[in-house]
Amino acid sequence: MNLIASAAPDSVLAEAVEEARAALLQEVSADQVGAHRSWFSDEAGALTHVFACTHPGYVGWHWAVTIARAPGAERVTVDEVVLLPGDGAIVAPAWVPYKDRLQPGDMSPGDLLPVTDDDPRLVPTYLLGDESSDDVGDDARAQVKSVAADLGLGRVRTLSIEGRDLAAQRWHDGSGGPDAPIAKSAPDQCWSCGFLVRLAGPLSSMFGVCANGNANDDGRVVTYDHGCGAHSEVKLARTQQPLVIPDHVFDSYSPELERF
Ligand code: SF4
Repeated sequence: MNLIASAAPDSVLAEAVEEARAALLQEVSADQVGAHRSWFSDEAGALTHVFACTHPGYVGWHWAVTIARAPGAERVTVDEVVLLPGDGAIVAPAWVPYKDRLQPGDMSPGDLLPVTDDDPRLVPTYLLGDESSDDVGDDARAQVKSVAADLGLGRVRTLSIEGRDLAAQRWHDGSGGPDAPIAKSAPDQCWSCGFLVRLAGPLSSMFGVCANGNANDDGRVVTYDHGCGAHSEVKLARTQQPLVIPDHVFDSYSPELERF
């Protein structure tokens, strides 16, 4: 909040500092109220007086007491008393809606996470192509569902181009992509690895699934230019080979035997 006073629309309100303080002291104890800092007015007939807040838990906050006066009236009335954060106040982070806060791994067994009808990542499987779901009424949705079921397509909706691009970008930027530390130090890339299972469809040009049970990425989507040290064609250099241990030899020599 800007604590510089704006132009006074009403000098009576601007001078009513003690009335505002008295209203404030009805709400909070005097040890939480500091000096009068300023006033501001956003509309005619109303004005807000600002007082410092001395509560140790609210550093940088201030009290705002809004008072008003009807045209021609002498009496000042109190509208509200609130505690507001100043520029240096510690405040809670901005609210992020529940569905935007979810991260992979947040769901627990039994949790349900329905998508909305207008989720841009999905489009009707049949008939409506990439059209926005906004243009589709409930009847059309019901028809699509019924036709899809009649034709045995199974799925009512599939990934939209936007949904596919989002997934591709996420996978590329994630731990199965080319910039993962394990890929940067890998001797070879997934495209040439015998453990890579290829995908079908448009994503197959960039991604596959790792099927090496000894690799960190087993069962995960990887980019062709990802890689790891468990690549199927990795060979150890001679100096990295394990030492060849010769067969055991039974040593029959002993001082007792030497006497014979
Ligand atoms: S074993 Fe390594 S190189 Fe081979 S597919 Fe899996 S992640 Fe890629």
